[in-house]
Amino acid sequence: MSQLPAAKIQELKARLKGDVVLPGEPAYEEARTIWNATIDKHPALFVRCTTTADVVLAVNLAREQGLTLAVRGGGHNIAGNALCDDGMVIDLSRMKAAKVDPATRRVTIEGGALLADLDAATQAHGLATPVGINSTTGIAGLTLGGGFGWLSRKYGLTVDNLESAEVVTAAGEVVRASATEHPDLFWALKGGSGNFGVVTRFEFRLHPVGPEVLSGLIVYPLSQAKTVLQRYREFVAKAPDELSVWSVLRKAPPLPFLPPEVHGTEVVVLALLYAGDPKKGEPLVAPLSTFGTPVGKFVGVQPYTAWQQAFDPLLTHGARNYWKSHNFAKLDDGLFDTVIDYIGTLPSPQCEIFFGALGGATMRPAPDSAAYPHRDAQFVMNVHGRWENAADDERCIRWARDFFKASAPFATGGAYVNFLTADEGDRVRAAYGSNYDRLAGVKRKYDAKNLFHVNQNITPA
Ligand SMILES: Cc1cc2nc3c(=O)[nH]c(=O)nc-3n(C[C@H](O)[C@H](O)[C@H](O)COP(=O)(O)OP(=O)(O)OC[C@H]3O[C@@H](n4cnc5c(N)ncnc54)[C@H](O)[C@@H]3O)c2cc1C
Repeated sequence: MSQLPAAKIQELKARLKGDVVLPGEPAYEEARTIWNATIDKHPALFVRCTTTADVVLAVNLAREQGLTLAVRGGGHNIAGNALCDDGMVIDLSRMKAAKVDPATRRVTIEGGALLADLDAATQAHGLATPVGINSTTGIAGLTLGGGFGWLSRKYGLTVDNLESAEVVTAAGEVVRASATEHPDLFWALKGGSGNFGVVTRFEFRLHPVGPEVLSGLIVYPLSQAKTVLQRYREFVAKAPDELSVWSVLRKAPPLPFLPPEVHGTEVVVLALLYAGDPKKGEPLVAPLSTFGTPVGKFVGVQPYTAWQQAFDPLLTHGARNYWKSHNFAKLDDGLFDTVIDYIGTLPSPQCEIFFGALGGATMRPAPDSAAYPHRDAQFVMNVHGRWENAADDERCIRWARDFFKASAPFATGGAYVNFLTADEGDRVRAAYGSNYDRLAGVKRKYDAKNLFHVNQNITPA
């Protein structure tokens, strides 16, 4: 970075409510550790903000001093965009406060909160908004890229539930973006990633959910995968919006409801949530256990917050991760054959391929209603390469890339911006799709000099 004078750091420290972490200090290593262990960046300073005013101070300093600037929400981004080398990181991980208004069914939540913080606050009132499936993900990055999870078929993407946002712009101004205030910025935030400023507060619409929901897993052996996937395809095409079923192919983890001889063998898992009265859901989910002969099943009524955390143990921080993803408008038999082949050659026991079922309410808005453009995606697939040792990097990454190539003929060509890795610069336009040019215009208005460029970047028009 261009040299930041010590006096400027002192001045910043004196004015911040939060604090600054510099290389060599005890908190530095932890601050630069994010979810994906393949990311190894060394920022020159972290500004750990606790208020919007702190964020304004940091943005102004970065702009005035010409620093590279990254923004950390939950630190889950696979491309490592929460960090930068040599520059400043605005770390929001202390800004997690949430406030629910049950009367208007709204929540406001700070920009460093995790999904677990959001779910805990809203479920205290039996309310929720659609977010992702892993509770340690940051609400900020997830929302700014679109956001989908178990409730999305019923209630839409996370961005479809965004009411307003408080944003610190590149000029250091604090603005509120909503349908009526800075509507161009509001539109761009709904899928345009971290390009437009630091979001210090989000406001979401809420819906009655649970707090107890019907959810769980049905596990089939890989030998039955083709039939199971074909029946899954037919089932999802007719499922009501309340019912969300994802399919995951991987080696079976040692889950207590699976017989020990199944652990470590290749399986197809159907994971489901019914976002309605569990009694109504029970007969609807029953056919999912008849697609073959399951080797295990755990379906029942449990707290929504428990289901939101069910996958956390498989997705802990600290492993090495590499992703490749496609959007699909439909699932072809040829795709099933390809997936089954690749699951037969998994390069590590933690790798998996999943199909997240979107559809329903996610597909009804027009592609230009928000910056997120992929209203044609019935399914989002992620090839999740995951392993422990750097020595396996090449093998695991090659497997993910090879499968990505082999499955490309069946895909729409669109890409989910939140699943793009650091080496997928050539897919950024596909991620913003038909909305790219409009986004570039909004970028020019709010960040003409591209201060916010450590992200899936949009070049100012
Ligand atoms: C285990 C796991 C499970 C996932 N499951 C899902 C899922 O079910 N559904 C889904 O839609 N996605 C899912 N994702 C993808 C997730 O949406 C992205 O990784 C997202 O970028 C994470 O946001 P974050 O705040 O944690 O990340 P960060 O790495 O902190 O940030 C991501 C990007 O957003 C920017 N940013 C962060 N905070 C702010 C802010 N406050 N203001 C402005 N810019 C900001 C950053 O600069 C960066 O460019 C998952 C990711 C992981 C690792």
